[in-house]
Amino acid sequence: MTRLAQTHGLTEFQTEILATVRAFVDKEVIPNAQELEHSDTYPQAIVDQMKDMGLFGLMIPEEYGGLGESLLTYALCVEELARGWMSVSGVINTHFIVAYMIRQHGTQAQKDHYLPRMATGEVRGAFSMSEPELGSDVAAIRTKGTRAGDGYVINGQKMWLTNGASSTLVAALVRTDEGASRPHQNLTTFLIEKPAGFGEVVPGITIPRKLDKMGYKGIDTTELFFDDYQASADQILGGTPGRGFAQMMDGVEVGRVNVSARACGVAIRAFELAVKYAQQRHTFGKAIAEHQAIAFSLAEMATKVEAAHLMMVNAARLKDSGERNDVAAGMSKYLASEYCSEVTQASFRIHGGYGYSKEYEIERLMREAPFLLIGEGTSEIQKTIISKGLLRTYKL
Ligand SMILES: Cc1cc2nc3c(=O)[nH]c(=O)nc-3n(C[C@H](O)[C@H](O)[C@H](O)COP(=O)(O)OP(=O)(O)OC[C@H]3O[C@@H](n4cnc5c(N)ncnc54)[C@H](O)[C@@H]3O)c2cc1C
Repeated sequence: MTRLAQTHGLTEFQTEILATVRAFVDKEVIPNAQELEHSDTYPQAIVDQMKDMGLFGLMIPEEYGGLGESLLTYALCVEELARGWMSVSGVINTHFIVAYMIRQHGTQAQKDHYLPRMATGEVRGAFSMSEPELGSDVAAIRTKGTRAGDGYVINGQKMWLTNGASSTLVAALVRTDEGASRPHQNLTTFLIEKPAGFGEVVPGITIPRKLDKMGYKGIDTTELFFDDYQASADQILGGTPGRGFAQMMDGVEVGRVNVSARACGVAIRAFELAVKYAQQRHTFGKAIAEHQAIAFSLAEMATKVEAAHLMMVNAARLKDSGERNDVAAGMSKYLASEYCSEVTQASFRIHGGYGYSKEYEIERLMREAPFLLIGEGTSEIQKTIISKGLLRTYKL
């Protein structure tokens, strides 16, 4: 057999870029991840190299200075990066979603203004839907933009911004009350440029602090407070208010393929660690891999890794072909994140007591895997999307 998670039918360029990212992960990410994660240190040197490799512009069209690659290429790179350290893939995830939203929904002026600088990583994106009172129920957003002349005054509180402090461009979803009867048609996405850092970064916007998390460390996750922030009408993504919900849902749909790819990467690493340890550790006179219970556990892990990878590749290819992929992305994200938790847990068990030691990588993966069940919509939300799609297709 070949190694796990191989992808057939890739172009020469895709194969080349994946080999480059894989070598980078093995050389620069895996050897440094433990120390940076345990000290909760931002991986600046790694991020700088990712900029040089052009990863921030992977999916940005060539006319704006990016590499113009597909969602599949992006997802396969993310899988490799997450195999090294999930936080490193998190650095580019929100950036990629914001760049995608501008590419798909921005005005020509917004594309010209942001995409070339996003392609180099000079401008770095974060996206903000969640609030303290809501995450799954996006249409219930409370942060409010009130019309003032040609622009808006925004007040409210946002929660859980990945890259909230290190980013310089936030796409924020705000209630602007356009008089539409359906709540989600009263939401607008604003593009907000700010300097990186904490405190009152621009008048009316404060990034108070870095949230302390169980895992997914190194990368900053923050709140954001709006206090009479003055936004101009040309900060509205696409120029027309009331379209924010649809724009964000389009963004999180590709984001789901990305989270799925991250789950695949973490699961692959958990498997790699388990299959190595199982051949090194001996009990009762033989390597534990020779005990059938452990060998079967490896078989189950490998099957889950392979299944998750195939569904992720399928969801990415569907999107690249221009087909609607909400159900495929939902299924892929659901399966990959649940399997990732199971595979990580199985690898942890194979490590015995050492799995509980901070000296072993599996300890970090155990704290990272649960986030994948939550980010870009929980498993329950994925099941809602999947079941709606099923009942549309199989309607009597
Ligand atoms: C580390 C981290 C980084 C994040 N980064 C970002 C970011 O960059 N930008 C951003 O906007 N958000 C971000 N989030 C927020 C994330 O998207 C939300 O946490 C997630 O969508 C869940 O929302 P919630 O936490 O409010 O949970 P809730 O919506 O309150 O859900 C609580 C529980 O109820 C379940 N539930 C809710 N509604 C239903 C229903 N209708 N049917 C069945 N079950 C239901 C959920 O599945 C969950 O189990 C991040 C979160 C974390 C932890």
